[in-house]
Amino acid sequence: MPLSFYVVRCTAPGCTREAVYKIAARWSDGLTDELKTYSLACAECLAELFAAAQVRRAGCRLAPGESLEPPGIYELHRGCRDKSLKRRVDLESALAKAQLEPSGQLGNPETTPPGGLTGRFLVE
Ligand SMILES: [Zn+2]
Repeated sequence: MPLSFYVVRCTAPGCTREAVYKIAARWSDGLTDELKTYSLACAECLAELFAAAQVRRAGCRLAPGESLEPPGIYELHRGCRDKSLKRRVDLESALAKAQLEPSGQLGNPETTPPGGLTGRFLVE
């Protein structure tokens, strides 16, 4: 299937929207490095999937000499190669801040509406 005609879907369970962000971390063994993709997210699911990626990152065991950077958020463009993806540090820090708030709803699904953390930084 030609990449340029392929619609990339959000990887959140039950979500069928088109993905606009890639959540990935740079991995290296000292010789080569690559971008490891955790998930692909639409704007609605970004906060949720970014938090999940950080949990997975924390549970990742590395062999000696390997390194794995914290997950980052990259803009997804159809047909673009990994190396040319634009990193959205602003979104990463906005989400990290939201997760650190005392009233932050991370890890408390009962009070978290679906995509509840998303609206906050979209309107800024
Ligand atoms: Zn989604």
